[in-house]
Amino acid sequence: MSYTVTLMPGDGIGPEVSEAARRCIDATGVKIAWEIAHAGVDILEQAGTPLPDATVASVLKNKVALKGPVTTPIGTGFRSVNVALRHKCDLFACVRPCRSYDGVRSRYQNIDLVIVRENSEDLYAGIEFEKGTPGCAAVIDAVEKAGGKKIKPDSGVSIKPISVSATRRVAKYAFDYARQYQRKKVTAIAKANIMKFTDGLFYATAREVAKEYADIKYEEVLVDAMCMQLVQKPELYDVLLLPNLYGDIMSDLCAGLVGGLGVAPGANIGDGVALFEAVHGSAPKYKGQNKVNPTAVILSGVLMLRWLGETAAAEKLDRAVADVIRAGKDVTYDMKADRNDPSAVGTSQMADAIIRRMQG
Ligand code: NAD
Repeated sequence: MSYTVTLMPGDGIGPEVSEAARRCIDATGVKIAWEIAHAGVDILEQAGTPLPDATVASVLKNKVALKGPVTTPIGTGFRSVNVALRHKCDLFACVRPCRSYDGVRSRYQNIDLVIVRENSEDLYAGIEFEKGTPGCAAVIDAVEKAGGKKIKPDSGVSIKPISVSATRRVAKYAFDYARQYQRKKVTAIAKANIMKFTDGLFYATAREVAKEYADIKYEEVLVDAMCMQLVQKPELYDVLLLPNLYGDIMSDLCAGLVGGLGVAPGANIGDGVALFEAVHGSAPKYKGQNKVNPTAVILSGVLMLRWLGETAAAEKLDRAVADVIRAGKDVTYDMKADRNDPSAVGTSQMADAIIRRMQG
């Protein structure tokens, strides 16, 4: 079978790491026609926007995209390319598997967690009111009238909506994922003892969904307790289901458990549409140096191959990445014991080693 996949090189280190990933994916033998679409600061000047309509149209047409990181432009009034893409393509779940690879330096071993994060609402819904504006004053006034609580007039205000429909959809995705990948347990994480009507609703909805999946265990843990649990007993957990903000924070915590941003892949999933990208950003200071670690985007490619149903190719690529990391020779500077180790290879040479491994 052949596929057309949107490839968004991104900016900063994006083009280097996404090209490394593209070559590795092609080397699995899966036939992919890559449709290049641009986003980020490099296209901003030419297109007048960091997210041209043609890019969104390409993702919606092909239903699958691999994306390099993009810089969030400061001072353009544009919030974030990533948030806009997730909204426009209705990518409601963000999935971040965090698995230990032998040879990656980390305080922990044998970590195998999957974060499923709600991607569309919560404090990241973008409903914000700037201090001192008429809109902010109106909201402060309305809150006082509705609930009797006074917000200080010199406050900025961000709104946290959490709905049954969005929670239900992401919770179902988490349980379906658990089933598909033979996972045993889903843990819902929030702060429902304090935010009863938002986080409480998140728990109540996830609990309802859990009843439809008797084969998967379900539990609830408060987000603060979970932070401690994850650094002390990460082995107790499996699939973690979180609202948007906690999910974002917990994703970086879990990336830290498995050795950092260089090895943390991700996927944004919608209804029949999916966009795959590393957790890390565009690291502009390393742009064009052929220096940074391509593993996170390559592993995002593994997730993409699995999503396409190309399981054998996904396993082949995953094994090759694991072998190269375990051998510790053809890896980038950040994977060496000493970051100044002169034997560290560049981004594209690490991809070459992974490709050789698949062929050998
Ligand atoms: P970043 O992830 O780009 O970089 C932080 C640091 O992590 C880097 O300086 C580098 O030391 C290290 N790092 C990141 N990726 C690495 C890799 N592949 N190999 C080795 N080391 C790596 O985070 P930041 O500096 O906070 O963000 C830079 C820009 O990226 C911002 O504009 C931000 O908004 C954007 N961003 C984009 C995405 C995305 O496109 N999905 C995600 C996060 C941040």
